Amino acid sequence: MLDVTNYMAEHGHEELVTYHDRESGLRALIAVHNTTLGPSLGGTRLWRYENSEAAMLDVLRLSEGMTYKAAVAGLHLGGGKSVIMADGKEQDPQVRAARLKAFGIMVERMGGRYIAAEDVGTTTSDILTVRGETKHVAGLPPEVGGSGDPSPVTAFGVMQGLHAVVQETLRTDSFKGVRVSIQGLGKVGMSLASRLVAEGALVKATDIRSENCRQAAEQFGVEIVQPEAIYDVECDIFAPCALGGVINDQTLPRLKCKIIAGSANNQLEDDRHGEALYQSGIVYAVDYVINAGGLINVAHELHGYNEEKAMAQAGQIFHTVKKMLALARTEGVSEVRAAHQMAQDRLKSGVIKSHS
Ligand code: NAD
Repeated sequence: MLDVTNYMAEHGHEELVTYHDRESGLRALIAVHNTTLGPSLGGTRLWRYENSEAAMLDVLRLSEGMTYKAAVAGLHLGGGKSVIMADGKEQDPQVRAARLKAFGIMVERMGGRYIAAEDVGTTTSDILTVRGETKHVAGLPPEVGGSGDPSPVTAFGVMQGLHAVVQETLRTDSFKGVRVSIQGLGKVGMSLASRLVAEGALVKATDIRSENCRQAAEQFGVEIVQPEAIYDVECDIFAPCALGGVINDQTLPRLKCKIIAGSANNQLEDDRHGEALYQSGIVYAVDYVINAGGLINVAHELHGYNEEKAMAQAGQIFHTVKKMLALARTEGVSEVRAAHQMAQDRLKSGVIKSHS
């Protein structure tokens, strides 16, 4: 059983709020990991968990990742996350609305220490419902002055990071002939595939949804492989853009790539897999460093959204990835350790130190 306060102490969490609303049946958790750099911001995940312990562990883990993502991206934000425990009843629009309203009340009670946004299982329209009860939300639709879907900015940011890692690792400025295999052709993966093909990369990809595969093949000429076969594809870059935990004891021995760089959160099942990648010579563009474009985009909404400024800051991911790789090289440590050190440096000093 999870020893919650011990886990929080070990990982540096500040707060975990659990909530049950009698009327709507809402069961939700909000975790605030670290507010040193500003209020915590993170998505609201609507997911069916096996039990509340699983939900608790997920929200704690995800909130910690948000702290590092915001810190390394140079944002004035802390790390937080929330989960709403699904039980199927939320498929009824009335129940869903009632629960989202109750969740809004919960967020409001946090007094601004946590800002909610869209995540897996929730939509921008859900966040609009939450906003009925609290102003502490971000990632709203453009029609109401929000920044809209962050996925294109995430894909743009991943592309910037890929340029940096390809320059450092493959010693080329061009994607011409670079072999990339993408896992997941969703909002980010599809956009990434289109950008890579446009720059001359040779893209193979997979998705469990056949319609997504068909679209990528027809529109961009992407070669499709079976979902399970993606780990065996010989390539320069493996880009996980679907789920977390895909780098693990089972998949690691199968990988035949030089670089791992994609948008998925929590790509490593465990930090030790980052060390294993380092030992096996695979360069890992740490997930929270390379996929920060979406968070950067949402953060810009808090001060009046300006697309040009958001894109310019997302473009900085190129330099951040370069710094991370340089630090790993000079210190002789894995990219995971280098990224963690950059995050800790920012948390201590409020600015990213130059390691180049
Ligand atoms: P999405 O739901 O649009 O796409 C995910 C895709 O992965 C779906 O098409 C799904 O069918 C596919 N998929 C699921 N399981 C699979 C499997 N086993 N094999 C192959 N494909 C599988 O999500 P998204 O917004 O594109 O995000 C992709 C990843 O990037 C997620 O992990 C998300 O947390 C992360 N991320 C997204 C953003 C963003 O701005 N959207 C920002 C940061 C991180």
